Amino acid sequence: MLRLRVCALYPELMNIYADRGNIAVLRARCEWRGMDFELGSVTVGEDLDPAAHDLFYIGGGQDRDQAAVAQDMAQGKSEAMHAAADRGAAVLAVCGGYQLLGHSYTMGDEELPGIGLVDLRTVREDGPRLIGNCAIEADLGDGPRVIAGFENHGGRTHLGAGAEPLGRVLSGHGNNGVDGFEGVRRGNVIGTYLHGPLLPKNIWLADRLIEMALDIELEPLDDEMEDAAHASARRAAGV
Ligand code: GLN
Repeated sequence: MLRLRVCALYPELMNIYADRGNIAVLRARCEWRGMDFELGSVTVGEDLDPAAHDLFYIGGGQDRDQAAVAQDMAQGKSEAMHAAADRGAAVLAVCGGYQLLGHSYTMGDEELPGIGLVDLRTVREDGPRLIGNCAIEADLGDGPRVIAGFENHGGRTHLGAGAEPLGRVLSGHGNNGVDGFEGVRRGNVIGTYLHGPLLPKNIWLADRLIEMALDIELEPLDDEMEDAAHASARRAAGV
């Protein structure tokens, strides 16, 4: 039987905006198809086995929560996360978790280390927090599609020369409010500022992540109501 093994990183610390809802959606999408779903977690001081999971998930966090996990992640989990990504496991990182996938998150005099899985840096610059609804257009291999969500971040993320954004901002701020990019994608590694939580609002993305994590193609489910809700929200937002 097909089985998706998900590992939640620091679930008790990195879960702002109920980002755990993303995991509930992954579970439902698997179970509705008769697939097994296994959820593990690792937190500060625990070992991470790169081969034991198909999809690694880290949610958003306040600056103080990120400070609590950044050192542990950079020192204790970086090697395993690189190994997992190299063998094609999927990674979904939201907001505070996304920032920690890069090289660093700088807040004034303090620089939190990231794990350098993607080429980007985040800086807490002067200026207002970037808050509001956000819609982006992303192509994860089946043509351009809209991802809708809500963003609230003080950090501005700047992609390095070799990094590919997850998508292009249609409405909202995105990575830094300036360059029109949102998130990052490197193979099966995805980082984004979008909460929602993200996957309940974009179930097609949940399915793509499962497909990427397991290297399979899923049978579609009946998503008529979700698709109608998406279409109506798009009409209202004019995107
Ligand atoms: N603490 C980070 C910032 O403000 C991320 C916030 C979040 O996860 N919503 O930039």
